[in-house]
Amino acid sequence: MQLKSILNRVERYKSFVYKRVTWVEGAERPTLEMGIEPRANGRAVCSGCGRPGPGYDRLPQRRFEFIPLWGIAVYFVYAMRRVDCAQCGVTVERVPWAEGKNQLTTSYQWFLARWAKRLSWRGVADAFRTSWENVFRSVKMAVSWGLAHRDWEGIESIGVDEIQWQKGHRYLTLVYQIDQGAKRLLWIGKERTTKTLLSFFRKLGKGRSARLRFICSDMWKPYLKVIAKKAGQAVHVLDRFHIMSKMNKAIDEVRAAEARRLARDGYEPLLKHSRWCLLKRPENLTDKQTVKISELLQYNLQSVRAYLHREDFQRFWEYQSPGWAVRFLQEWCTRVMRSKIEPMKKVARTLRKHQQLILNWFKAKGTISAAVVEGLNNKVKLTMRKAYGFRTQKAIEIALYHNLGALPEPTFTHEFC
Ligand SMILES: [Zn+2]
Repeated sequence: MQLKSILNRVERYKSFVYKRVTWVEGAERPTLEMGIEPRANGRAVCSGCGRPGPGYDRLPQRRFEFIPLWGIAVYFVYAMRRVDCAQCGVTVERVPWAEGKNQLTTSYQWFLARWAKRLSWRGVADAFRTSWENVFRSVKMAVSWGLAHRDWEGIESIGVDEIQWQKGHRYLTLVYQIDQGAKRLLWIGKERTTKTLLSFFRKLGKGRSARLRFICSDMWKPYLKVIAKKAGQAVHVLDRFHIMSKMNKAIDEVRAAEARRLARDGYEPLLKHSRWCLLKRPENLTDKQTVKISELLQYNLQSVRAYLHREDFQRFWEYQSPGWAVRFLQEWCTRVMRSKIEPMKKVARTLRKHQQLILNWFKAKGTISAAVVEGLNNKVKLTMRKAYGFRTQKAIEIALYHNLGALPEPTFTHEFC
């Protein structure tokens, strides 16, 4: 079977034919060129309006990179026709294998973009011997296509989350859909202000906002304000993940201050290597960490007490009856307020203040799972770590939409990967 026949099976164009295949001598890497010609009597299509028009002239040959075959680079070679369009004037024709001035064929771009979900962008560039920019542009194309073709109907539950980037100096607000069977990143906004979240609701629109049933978020004031205003009918849940990470932040603060105090007063460095022992749940500790934590538990340290308060609080999520849960919450807060551990007291005060929204957790139980926002948040962090090499917010957004947006793709006659 010839290459021509294979291409006709996997990538056939109605108005064009594959002509001659040539091996390019003296190329940097093994390279094939596939000549393409318009079908006889086929009229060129104007790239401005998409209508066929009379031919004007032909431009010099151009090369379009296709998907490599057995490590051999494959190029389509074609001399573009120009169209004398009644409406647009003289324009270059539109060809089905590439967009505009792009040197990569659309199939190759989708190929690179798909691999970029499995490997880092640098990794894809290395594997297929292309540039980082080519991978970036391909992902960008896939994301704009997906964003233009996605569907925002039927969204009932959303989660609002924030991430820090640029070494923690900047924030992005992320909105996820967290319905059963439909979990994806919906929207990314700059900063975490009232304005940020308002622009999400503007994009979502009044009708769809009114159909929201559950919203998860953390206790960040601007979020609370906007959610109450724009989707007051939805059950607003302060989600478990954000509450527990607030406690972890407090524990971390207590530990750092205490470690400094112990060092200053000349005690042995008890808290060295204890950070993760205190932040992880006991069941997730390694053997070594378990030994460390049982050692720590023998001392009356503030860090240990803060840790025990957090572990105690885990019971809250297990209650079946909201009535008992309120009682527990109030007692827990009282205990912590007596503890003299300032960062934990701050958490208790915040929980008291938002008691109603926290209890909404029980109303939403069974509908939205506790781990879903946490899972998406972890994926976001992983994507940001894996896609090193981007500096701009735009690039981060593209990577996040690409990996978490569950964006649609066009249907292909052949799946190349
Ligand atoms: Zn035209």
